[in-house]
Amino acid sequence: MKHNKKHFVIAIDGPAGAGKSTVAMLVAKKLGFLYVDTGAMYRALTLKALRQKLDLNDRQSLIEMARKSKIELFQNENHYKVFLDGKEITEEIRTEEVSRNSHFIASVPEIREILWDIQRSYRNNHNIVMEGRDIGTVVFPDAQIKIYLDASVEERTKRRYLQLKQQGIEIDIKKLKEEIIKRDEKDSKRDIAPLKKHPEAIVIDTTNMTIEEEVLLITEIYRKRIKSE
Ligand code: C5P
Repeated sequence: MKHNKKHFVIAIDGPAGAGKSTVAMLVAKKLGFLYVDTGAMYRALTLKALRQKLDLNDRQSLIEMARKSKIELFQNENHYKVFLDGKEITEEIRTEEVSRNSHFIASVPEIREILWDIQRSYRNNHNIVMEGRDIGTVVFPDAQIKIYLDASVEERTKRRYLQLKQQGIEIDIKKLKEEIIKRDEKDSKRDIAPLKKHPEAIVIDTTNMTIEEEVLLITEIYRKRIKSE
């Protein structure tokens, strides 16, 4: 890589349950890039606020809590772990309670600023695959590749249901679908950094695709991009 050239960023955005994490992780592994799950950061702070029983409508106390928090993402060949204030919380942040309440944290501009700084710092030393809601639009509007991963709400519900089941969490599928719809609406309608398609984003509808096909498609997009430079 040339000296003054920015590290490569593949930004993957999309609604809840579109399979962003799985695909982003596999693409990163295949290309030797760092995988960064930004949702884990919003989830980590949500978990902390819930544990501390903070009033989730009291933005000031959420901001103070965020300022005092240390979020770290670790990864090696096959594992990826999330730490909050030095303690592992990889599993704990995956509950529906955390999913449902993450919008309180995600809609506070001061907290997003803190997390954006951390997210942008990953690019200083690494090529990255970063996934979330606002990566191509806000965090890295100059990402070399922007992907918007989508799927029908039925398919996304099914995927999330199976994922939770694998983790031993049983949940009513109808309720899960309603929660996914509600979360998408909140993520798309908030004032700051809402979920939306960047005009340059390549939209991939994964409803009828396998994970292998998605990974292949994105790595092909990458190879073509590299060739054309
Ligand atoms: O991606 P994941 O479902 O883990 O994200 C959890 C929540 O964190 C989202 O519903 C959203 O409210 C918030 N989030 C966000 N911006 C991101 C990533 C996640 O607002 N870049």
